[in-house]
Amino acid sequence: SQRTFSIIKPDAVRKGYTAAILAEIEKAGFKIVAIKKIGLTKEQAEGFYYVHAARPFFGELTTFMSSGTIVPMVLEKDNAIADLRTLMGATDPAKADEGTIRKKYASSIGENAIHGSDAEDTAAFEIGYFFAGYELK
Ligand code: GDP
Repeated sequence: SQRTFSIIKPDAVRKGYTAAILAEIEKAGFKIVAIKKIGLTKEQAEGFYYVHAARPFFGELTTFMSSGTIVPMVLEKDNAIADLRTLMGATDPAKADEGTIRKKYASSIGENAIHGSDAEDTAAFEIGYFFAGYELK
């Protein structure tokens, strides 16, 4: 099986969707390997999203991601990276398929409820950014 990294973003936590999104994730067959509730500083959000530093929305994205509580987690199942991306739906919730987390819980392309790693190398970086080895049993 494979591990991926996910975050329930500040918009979804603020709206009280944390438990509903976790239920979707578990229903889809993911094991929650590690999870916590934290807040990021702007600098910590910039470090997490450094691959997007040149994008026009980088400032908005990192301000949003440091605007409230988030729930980072490590998830495990066969084909976890691709399957989580399918469960999340398109970046823009207006374009997301029926039944996806972003279709149900996101409000805009910026405030889109959930993050999921897009490849093995980014998953490894992102897991290491938020969790120490001893937390990943
Ligand atoms: P993802 O892999 O589906 O999360 O999408 P990307 O890797 O393309 O973008 C990363 C994150 O940046 C998205 O999940 C959004 O939160 C944010 N984002 C992407 N495009 C835009 C945009 O046009 N405007 C704003 N404000 N945020 C965006």
